[in-house]
Amino acid sequence: MQKEKVIVIGSGPAGITAALYTARAALDPLVISGSQLGGQISITNEVENYPGFPEGTTGPELAELMQKQAERFGARLLIDEVVEVDFMNGSPFTVKTHGESFEAESVILCVGASPRRLGVPGEEEMIGRGVSFCATCDGFFFREKDVVVIGGGDSAMEEALFLTRFASHVKVIHRRDELRAGEALKKRAFANEKVSFVWDTVVDEIIGNGKVESVKLSNVKSGDQSVSNTDGVFIFIGHYPNSELFKGQLDLDEREYVITDEKMMTSVPGVFAAGEIQDPVFRQIATSVGQGCAAAMMTERWLEEQE
Ligand code: NAP
Repeated sequence: MQKEKVIVIGSGPAGITAALYTARAALDPLVISGSQLGGQISITNEVENYPGFPEGTTGPELAELMQKQAERFGARLLIDEVVEVDFMNGSPFTVKTHGESFEAESVILCVGASPRRLGVPGEEEMIGRGVSFCATCDGFFFREKDVVVIGGGDSAMEEALFLTRFASHVKVIHRRDELRAGEALKKRAFANEKVSFVWDTVVDEIIGNGKVESVKLSNVKSGDQSVSNTDGVFIFIGHYPNSELFKGQLDLDEREYVITDEKMMTSVPGVFAAGEIQDPVFRQIATSVGQGCAAAMMTERWLEEQE
């Protein structure tokens, strides 16, 4: 079994920052990328609120720059997915990927979160056939088509605006009569002629035969039901933490986020966590970077204390 001082699981902003800091502390970290190299920002189009980029940047560009910087200081990146961990017997911990097994003195979990599903009939079956959770990935396929966006948060507005580059019309369907999104995005969405809003409405079913054809809707106030024809359904209703692998091994909160203390340590000494796996509140690139940095510094200190 390959022995490591630090294994960082996940390659989003938190993971890459943890790798950069532990690399600069001469801990020779191994980063196991997960299924999405770069994490969620690799499928985010515009990034306007990360400091240092006055004109904004794109998620993939930022992810690549972060990765290059960590690699420059010696972080090693393994493109693989962790399928099993053993934290129960203390350090050294076992981390298994599809291809290899590792022993790690410390682990920094930066495995992030995944898009939440609506849980309505038709959703699962038509993923990739008109149902999407990523406008950046799939928007191109909806040139001159009509699409609906579900959700009223920043993600829904950002992605709805992005989709106007391709689609002829974007209908935002929101369960309340007020958006959750911040003022800047709200303003841009209201001002865009290609975007319209359906308020107080939920999706009961996604209908189609091999591909999306329409959505069945209910007005939550009047109870009225209707069917709206559409070519695509883009769902942005928040995220859930990718904590499945750690259930029964680490303490999780009621929403299944990994619980960390003020030193970013989980309930198992030597296992730290940063980014959206332990943060249901801020969920920004800037905060994930900060948490990744803090987790790396605390890992370094913890390893020193063990010697
Ligand atoms: P979010 O803020 O949690 O918003 C989720 C939206 O989906 C809400 O409008 C919610 O409705 C709706 N929703 C939740 N469950 C639903 C269901 N079962 N059926 C229908 N609608 C449902 O999630 P997010 O937009 O992904 O944003 C997450 C975090 O990232 C936020 O802190 C956000 O500010 C941040 N973010 C920032 C930017 C930016 O600054 N540019 C971009 C993207 C994300 P209710 O409003 O009724 O709860």
